[in-house]
Amino acid sequence: MNAEIVAIGSELLTPWRQDTNSLYVTERLNQLGVAVIFKTIVGDRQKHLVEAIRNALGRADIVVIMGGLGPTEDDLTREAVAEALKIGLKRNPELIAELYTRFAARRMQITRNNEKQADTLEGATILENARGTAPGQMLDTIYGEHRKLVMLLPGPPSELKPMFDEQCMPRLRELLPQRHIATRVLKAAMIGESAADARIAPIYQQFKDVETTILAHLGDIQLNLVCSKSIQEAAQGRVDELAGRIEEELEDLIYSSQGETLEQIVLFYLELRAATLSVAESCTGGLIAERLTNISGASRSFAGGAVVYSNELKTEFAGVSPALIEQHGAVSREVAAALAEGIRERCKTTFGLGVTGIAGPGGGSEEKPVGLVYIGVSDGESTEVVEKKFTGDRNRIRQYASQQALDLVRR
Ligand code: ATP
Ligand code: MG
Repeated sequence: MNAEIVAIGSELLTPWRQDTNSLYVTERLNQLGVAVIFKTIVGDRQKHLVEAIRNALGRADIVVIMGGLGPTEDDLTREAVAEALKIGLKRNPELIAELYTRFAARRMQITRNNEKQADTLEGATILENARGTAPGQMLDTIYGEHRKLVMLLPGPPSELKPMFDEQCMPRLRELLPQRHIATRVLKAAMIGESAADARIAPIYQQFKDVETTILAHLGDIQLNLVCSKSIQEAAQGRVDELAGRIEEELEDLIYSSQGETLEQIVLFYLELRAATLSVAESCTGGLIAERLTNISGASRSFAGGAVVYSNELKTEFAGVSPALIEQHGAVSREVAAALAEGIRERCKTTFGLGVTGIAGPGGGSEEKPVGLVYIGVSDGESTEVVEKKFTGDRNRIRQYASQQALDLVRR
């Protein structure tokens, strides 16, 4: 079985409102092994709604329609579904009575147009809405000789979510054969999406029963593996097998096999080794410290550090000698190493991390272009420095630098 989601509301076609309901419903449907094959967003025009609903009925078994169930002129979902299915719409007297009771309880004046919320599709089951006035509806029907399950849900997320969980999920479970879903999330740092895909596609393509999706974001790659089977162990076995093969291929590029963030992993490794970390950040301006301190419990292994943007502060807080900066420039291999060593010593930590670079858009030269970043890690005995040339805008370069720095500490 598959599903289509139709999100209704002209506001969802503006730059200011996003359709988040469909993400929630998709997650729930996927848990039942139902794939969403189409999502449509339609403005509040009956003609367009009918068209979208007919398209959905024509290609999906389950059609989830959300929004447009309120009392106002532009709430046309009920009328549109009735027209699309060529079925009647009747004002349900019990629902009208309920609406009146509800408004009275809230000491609100009910207006005539509110009664429209009691219009019920022929043959539909009413889905109660404890958090709002517009009830939902569910309809088991035939369209073009095929059986379809149609759901009408209110737009406000606070009403839609409980309604879907409490009233739609049980019905779907009845209808669908029992499926078990196993998932794994693998994460890799500092490898491009296409480079990663080129290496792992030959592997996951052999696992036709596992759905593999790749999400890439600023030096971070997330691989989602999902398998649905009638037996839980079988589903889990398949995703674990594929995860193992991918880990073998990407080796230490993979930092997480259960979906943890890079900063969580860094802190985890530090704690495991009973080690501590301090940072001296120039071009990342505190981004690394921000990411680490976002994790609760970070204080067990992250000591702190300094944002040393000016040359004076590189000297003052990380002990980098002015002569070294003069000789090699603030953005250099030597200064990155000195930052790492200096901050480590001053903060008395196991590891020290130093980052210096040119985030742009100005300040670059032929010799030292925008995007050039040096990252140093010192453990007191030796200091490793990596040189990277990142591309893109200022935000991207800074994000990449923080990602590279954390990845270096992890290793
Ligand atoms: P109401 O009785 O509140 O009018 P309704 O069923 O008519 O309910 P809408 O008018 O379409 O729903 O939307 C009500 C609110 O819910 C709006 O603030 C809207 O932005 C939000 N909303 C609607 N659809 C979605 C969606 N797909 N994702 C997230 N928010 C949504
Ligand atoms: Mg509305």
